[in-house]
Amino acid sequence: MMNAAAAQAALKSHFGYESFRPGQQGVVDAILLGRDALAVMPTGAGKSVCYQVPGIVLGGLTLVVSPLVSLMGDQVRALIEAGVRGAYLNSTLTPGQQATVLRRALEGAYQIMYVAPERLSDPRFIEFAREARIPLVAVDEAHCVSQWGQDFRPSYLAVGDFIAQLPQRPVVAAFTATATARVRGDIARLLDLRDPYEAVTGFDRPNLSFGVERLEPKRKLARIAAYVLDHPLDGGIVYCSTRKDVDKVHAALLETGVRAVRYHAGMPAAARAESQRAFIVDDAPVMVATNAFGMGIDKSNVRYVIHHNMPGSIEAYYQEAGRAGRDGEPSECLLFWSDGDVSTCRFFIEQESGNEELAPEESEAVRASRRRLLEAMCGYCHTTDCLRAYILRYFGEQSSQVVSNVSEEGPGAEDCGESPMKRPSGREEGLEPQDSAPGPSVASGSSDCRQAVGTCCSNCAGAFEAVDVTATARAVMRCVQELRGRFGKGMVVDVLRGSKVAKVLEMHLDEAASYGTVDASVAQVKEIIELLAAGGYLSITEGSYPTVGLGPRAREAAEDGFSLTMKRVSRKPERSRERSAGGRAFGSSGSSALGEVDSSLFERLRALRKRLADEAGKPPYIVFSDAALRDMCVKKPANDEEFLEVSGVGATKLARYGQAFLAEIAAWERGEE
Ligand code: ADP
Ligand code: ZN
Repeated sequence: MMNAAAAQAALKSHFGYESFRPGQQGVVDAILLGRDALAVMPTGAGKSVCYQVPGIVLGGLTLVVSPLVSLMGDQVRALIEAGVRGAYLNSTLTPGQQATVLRRALEGAYQIMYVAPERLSDPRFIEFAREARIPLVAVDEAHCVSQWGQDFRPSYLAVGDFIAQLPQRPVVAAFTATATARVRGDIARLLDLRDPYEAVTGFDRPNLSFGVERLEPKRKLARIAAYVLDHPLDGGIVYCSTRKDVDKVHAALLETGVRAVRYHAGMPAAARAESQRAFIVDDAPVMVATNAFGMGIDKSNVRYVIHHNMPGSIEAYYQEAGRAGRDGEPSECLLFWSDGDVSTCRFFIEQESGNEELAPEESEAVRASRRRLLEAMCGYCHTTDCLRAYILRYFGEQSSQVVSNVSEEGPGAEDCGESPMKRPSGREEGLEPQDSAPGPSVASGSSDCRQAVGTCCSNCAGAFEAVDVTATARAVMRCVQELRGRFGKGMVVDVLRGSKVAKVLEMHLDEAASYGTVDASVAQVKEIIELLAAGGYLSITEGSYPTVGLGPRAREAAEDGFSLTMKRVSRKPERSRERSAGGRAFGSSGSSALGEVDSSLFERLRALRKRLADEAGKPPYIVFSDAALRDMCVKKPANDEEFLEVSGVGATKLARYGQAFLAEIAAWERGEE
């Protein structure tokens, strides 16, 4: 297979990588054999290489359809940096520039061209495409073609027609990071893929560690500031659910002397663009933003993503958190949440349904599905299991680590708790996105898991104590039953704690059998109610006056086997710090994820990268990824040949930057300033 060898060579010479990742190999092979492909890969898996390398090998002009106009410039710059002739065509170019690009494309000036989907129905473009030699059309973010996806774009429906008009049918390859079976079916059908090779790569992102902390709103600011100050050399994103929170967190960070920038839809476009620029070129290490920020951001060296509020779904959370560590280096994803976040999400679900185009029963169906998504998100916040395993199970997978843990799990896995929260909240149909294997669905917090401590999650690191609250939970169940679902959470808490407030006395609730049967704080009882609701034992109604009633699993709470464990976060992460010697400890640890690598050299190389990037007007991560710098620190190359051995260094980068980096490394070895 000549082509396969050529692909391997192109991967090395242009991108500086030794081998394709397993998921990439299959897709590249299929395309080179002339077969359509559908690749479902999480962010950071390396989708671009899957079409860029065949694009180089096949000759002619590969078209890449992408909705992310703002990203195209970056992607093309990265290509050119790798010695690949790339171009893009979108509305940011003047008509004159567009004409030039098309003319040069016909002359064979480019190997890969990015276009927005709208372009495909432009008669002039179709005319151009009929003349050009186009062996491959790659469709990025392919889920946009489906109405079932989150980001439906009608313009994607034009892709199929466009391809049908070409004199010779190109290979069509579709790529997406999120797709349920239904969306996958839509993609294949609407893009008219022919017997596509399907690759579904694991959703696991081993370099990300996850953390969940429940924090009162007023404590969140201090916690975030402390984290940021603790990681002064790292870049990160702080996501907030409202513009107001963005402004607040941003101001607080500035006050502590952190160079933070902010981004939300309420700011003028120019200010947003400036924030984005500063963050991308590493002028400002921290970005505070709403979820308006991120689509189309390709910065690979984001070392942490902190959520100041709970998002509405695991999908949304994983997408946002997944912007950390695209370069494969250890990175952290922390979620801070409070009860208020849950109420806010509930409120939005009930309010936001005002889509006039939907019939009432359709909007109710939408609301119901959103409620289920939110419940699964709450389950993530409450679970005492491995957070990574929870996410993967949600997407219908098990990580290899989890699988091995299951097989090794002995009966002694105590601190993972016999909690009913072992599965994503509730058991109604559809609530668990996909059922995983029977038996102990997941092991974590178990002793085995500690091998990976420091890189897995806060639960595995034992950053909390599991407290048995079964007795209180039973009392809550009895009380709710007694009150017959007529009251809200606050009243249930008051009755249980024997409060003497007027509304309790007026309604003679002090005569209830469950009155004063619980000795616990308000916050604790509230949390137990949330926990029971997330597990389906209770249900909290929607609307402006949510009331607490029995849930579909209420009966199970009365059975012998029932028990409930609650997380109590131990404030000091020392425990995890000790255990994770060398690794990235939870919510603690020094500045960066360097491990054994010499950080003084890394800092010098990072500064050099920044200088060269600024001179060239490029983002630093396009010059070299953090991963490449780190590999330089490990290999300490002394000549061109050794420099080529560094992961991420191809011929073009060697020619462009080799000398400068080799000189810097040599100077460091000699101990010069
Ligand atoms: P995606 O588009 O799937 O989010 P990217 O194409 O941006 O992912 O790739 C993510 C990162 O992985 C990039 O820094 C890229 O250079 C790197 N990468 C891709 N393929 C390989 C490979 N075969 N070996 C090592 N690194 C790779
Ligand atoms: Zn874990």
